[in-house]
Amino acid sequence: MEDCLFCKIAAGQIPSRKVYEDEQIFAFHDINPARPVHLLVIPKQHITSLASASDADLPVLGRMLAIANRLASEQGSPDGFRLIINTGTIGHQEVQHLHAHIVGGPDPVGPMLKRT
Ligand code: AMP
Ligand code: ZN
Repeated sequence: MEDCLFCKIAAGQIPSRKVYEDEQIFAFHDINPARPVHLLVIPKQHITSLASASDADLPVLGRMLAIANRLASEQGSPDGFRLIINTGTIGHQEVQHLHAHIVGGPDPVGPMLKRT
C-alpha cells in the first residue's frame, strides 16, 4: 500500500533493524523501545489492523504468534514476554498496518505502553 510506513519497511524501502523475514512476515526492532527487548512483528501484506483482518488472514496471524514466541527467545527474552496488538483509536494504534509488539527483557510487566 502506498504511503504506509510498515509496508515500506517490509519492502526494504525504509531502513529498519531487521531480526527476521520470510515470505509472509517481517520483524524488526521498535525505533523507540519501551523495554530492553521491544520488537515488532508484521505481515508483509498490508492489513490495516486486527479489526480489519479477515478469515483469509488467519494463517498469517497464526504465523505471527509462532514467530513472536521464537523471536522473543532468540532476542533476549527466553523466560517470557508480552505480546501487544494495539487496535484502533481506543487501542491507541498509531501506525495503520497491523503489528504485534514483543515486549520483554528482565521486567516486561510494568506501565502499559501507551499514555492517554
Ligand atoms: P502503535 O501505537 O501500536 O501503532 O505503535 C507503533 C510503534 O511503531 C511505536 O512503538 C513506534 O515506536 C514504532 N515505530 C514508528 N516508526 C518506526 C520505525 N520507522 N521503525 C521502527 N519502529 C517504528
Ligand atoms: Zn502497510
